[in-house]
Amino acid sequence: MKNFLSDKAKSIEPYTPGEQPKDKKYIKLNTNESPYPPSPNVKKVITESSFDDLRLYPDPNVSDLKKEISKLYNIKENNIFIGNGSDEILAFSFMAFFNRGDKVYYPNITYSFYSVYSSLFDLNEQKIPLKDDFTIDINNYKNLDSGIFIANPNAPTGLLLSLKEIEEILINNKDNIVIIDEAYIDFGGESAYKLIDKYCNLLVIQTFSKSRALAGMRLGFAIGDENLIQGLKNIKYSFNSYTINRLSILAAIEAIKDKKYFEESVNKIINTRERMKIQLKELDFKVLDSKSNFLFISHKNMFAEKLYLKLRDNGILVRYFKSNIIDNYIRVTIGTDEEMDAFIKKLKEILKS
Ligand SMILES: *Cc1c(COP(=O)(O)O)cnc(C)c1O
Repeated sequence: MKNFLSDKAKSIEPYTPGEQPKDKKYIKLNTNESPYPPSPNVKKVITESSFDDLRLYPDPNVSDLKKEISKLYNIKENNIFIGNGSDEILAFSFMAFFNRGDKVYYPNITYSFYSVYSSLFDLNEQKIPLKDDFTIDINNYKNLDSGIFIANPNAPTGLLLSLKEIEEILINNKDNIVIIDEAYIDFGGESAYKLIDKYCNLLVIQTFSKSRALAGMRLGFAIGDENLIQGLKNIKYSFNSYTINRLSILAAIEAIKDKKYFEESVNKIINTRERMKIQLKELDFKVLDSKSNFLFISHKNMFAEKLYLKLRDNGILVRYFKSNIIDNYIRVTIGTDEEMDAFIKKLKEILKS
């Protein structure tokens, strides 16, 4: 039989999302979702939204949400782009700012979707090694000859670069686009969006999936110079004008407006994270100093893959990456205090056995 697939569809190795098994109820600490529900105002606006309006296309420009983000960060609407998850904006960025065959730089250990996009769009990826302690050495990111992606905090390490270090990278790459993926910035970092007026080579990408508890709605946004935003728009309108649905727009607006709820949930997660760091160290884990909503940990007496499987058998899902350098670590999303206490209890049993 004729194979109808393109060369790309035949050969590409796609991204593997974290598992969402249905065989039993797990404590899910594997995909960095928020353990807390979205703001109650999100529920209210969705419940009260017009059912009949679903027959109408949504606003392709997503103006109402842009207005809300522009108020939140005190930036112009023309500096904002909204996407169907930050993954979509990342994909659009690979198309908008690179030509086929161009080099693209990122750390050797980072969000693995960057590599998938590089091969999807035929770019020439250049992986810059992390230091032995998994930190990014910004001296390796000076005067490069093409664009750069940096997740800050980085994934799956959770380690943060300061705003000053990001600025060093920007100053030393005036002719290269620098894309900062801030999926986890709300959990302890300082966003680089404040630098967009100073650096026209900067694009900052954030998401509603982690700190704003709307992973199921698929929403992300980018902030940058108007020219970069125009590039993203050109790609989007050549692909799908209506990437954001009506309910997602309503939900996102309320999620932003409810600042108090946002801060409370983020602070709860940060407090739980810091408590976990101490408890895991007491159990002889090596714990990276994460500023995100997950911990990247390793134990000297039990190999990470074994630990991952044993936790799974015990109804707790964490993420394990079977790639060298990090293959003796597991990534654990910060859940509720109750979930994390159950996690620690199981860990103790597993380590004892
Ligand atoms: C979760 C995550 C994203 C994707 O987020 P969505 O907005 O849900 O698509 C992007 N980058 C990093 C580093 C992430 O961890």
